[in-house]
Amino acid sequence: MALVNIHFLNLQQNYLFADIAKKVNAFKVMHPKDDVISLGIGDVTQPLCPAVIEAMHRAADEMATAKGFHGYGPEQGYDFLREAILKNDFLPRGVHLDMDEIFINDGAKSDTGNFQELLHWDNFIGVTDPIYPVYIDSNVMIGRCGTFREGRWTNVRYMPITAENGFVPELPKGRPVDVIYLCYPNNPTGTVLTKQELRKWVNYALKNDALILFDAAYQAYIRDPEIPHSIYEIRGARKCAVEFRSFSKTAGFTGIRCGYTIVPKDVSVSTFEGERISLNHLWFRRQCTKFNGTSYISQRAAEATYTPEGRQQIQQTIDYYMENASKLLTTLRGLGYECYGGENAPYIWMRTPDTFQKETGTMAPISSWKFFENLLYGANVVCTPGVGFGPSGEGYVRFTAFGSHEQTDEALRRIEKWTNVEC
Ligand SMILES: *Cc1c(COP(=O)(O)O)cnc(C)c1O
Repeated sequence: MALVNIHFLNLQQNYLFADIAKKVNAFKVMHPKDDVISLGIGDVTQPLCPAVIEAMHRAADEMATAKGFHGYGPEQGYDFLREAILKNDFLPRGVHLDMDEIFINDGAKSDTGNFQELLHWDNFIGVTDPIYPVYIDSNVMIGRCGTFREGRWTNVRYMPITAENGFVPELPKGRPVDVIYLCYPNNPTGTVLTKQELRKWVNYALKNDALILFDAAYQAYIRDPEIPHSIYEIRGARKCAVEFRSFSKTAGFTGIRCGYTIVPKDVSVSTFEGERISLNHLWFRRQCTKFNGTSYISQRAAEATYTPEGRQQIQQTIDYYMENASKLLTTLRGLGYECYGGENAPYIWMRTPDTFQKETGTMAPISSWKFFENLLYGANVVCTPGVGFGPSGEGYVRFTAFGSHEQTDEALRRIEKWTNVEC
């Protein structure tokens, strides 16, 4: 008899974006004439840049010849791309890595989800709250998170990031955390950590022999020169941190698929007997078994983002999105909404406005889902309810800057009109 992995049955059935789609569809069925603008889902909208397109055409033409054909490539990725990464993403920031510390993949989601396989099932994980859902769900699948009660997993340490603590997570007290997920610049809050703040986490990990899994998918959006792009800018991180990066948000590769993971040779974890095991070696072994490499065409496309033209072109698109972010921030704040993020990340994290609560007779923020519905029905604009990213996201919604200028402007006009009518 084939038995199911029961941990999968513990997963929360409803995936946030499926819930949103359902509600938006219900609205569209009832209001077929109204067009809806989505500032909800975190996908990019602008086309790939010319340098990338040319590289993909060239790679496809090569593949059409016997000499230029590429079959299975190296599981860790082609040298041409790993070299370009070293030279462009790390050396200029004073970070020295070896080629075989870089693992090219088909996007950061796979590796942020898969990396936990290397770790014993009863490691205790800590996550900032709110959070990118992949980190927790992938740990649920292997039975590491306990049971789900009142919006939380019993065996996960939630570290709130809210307006009250300035979106700076506090170091865990009590039982030490073994594995820490950090995502900076942060999705969904759009906030960042300074070098000083990040250093606290590296020091915590070193002191407690913990592992940091650092997601830097949005590093290209950092504008403030003081904010670290890589955790390896912090001394000691080579001993305790793995970093995930992606071309998805950097260069619009959400449909092309390419990213990479850094696993320094100095990062090790322990056996019960106290023997140290190198994660670099283990991840290499895992990838060789379960992964057959990212397509040659995608890797040539990624390489092209590092040419002078490529760099300039992808920067233009990033600036384009950040112009949206800045408009969203200015307009929403001007309307009296409390907004965060949006300065070093393509997300605006907005507190829902206070409203009179009949049950308690006091003023309190409208729930994330209620505000989502009010905005959908009142302004025909879609945002993402913050509570979908974790319990501390309640009372917030997320807007993305990944729309076109036209969509963003129109959405803001509608929100402005709606807000003035409502209040
Ligand atoms: C979009 C995103 C990624 C990138 O995912 P890909 O699989 O590379 O497309 C990774 N982490 C976070 C937090 C993201 O929002």
